[in-house]
Amino acid sequence: MIMDFVDKLHAKIELAGGLSCALKHHPDDSKAEMQAVDFIYQGWGTDDGLVAEIKRETLIPVCATCAKSLTNNEWALQFCMNCANSKWIWKLYSERCIEWKIQWTPYCPKCHESFRTR
Ligand SMILES: [Zn+2]
Ligand SMILES: [Zn+2]
Repeated sequence: MIMDFVDKLHAKIELAGGLSCALKHHPDDSKAEMQAVDFIYQGWGTDDGLVAEIKRETLIPVCATCAKSLTNNEWALQFCMNCANSKWIWKLYSERCIEWKIQWTPYCPKCHESFRTR
């Protein structure tokens, strides 16, 4: 069921000639470089240890460069669930020991900024 959805999206991307990567990029990166080739898939739901039920799904289009970074252990990604803002963290430069690959945060500093000015 879920894979079907992803497959459909893949087909859609091929037809449309490209979705852009939704992750953080250098402003000079060209649109061609940012063409999405894959997705980050995350299912959200309940897991009582016996039955896992997916309630909601998140699909984020990613380009080849980002997809590669995600498989590279030197990088971790923070993704804001509120504004879809993302941030790459170079683990070697991080003071904390990072064990996660992708951290889904409910808000990011940018969101807090906009709450304050509202
Ligand atoms: Zn990208
Ligand atoms: Zn945010």
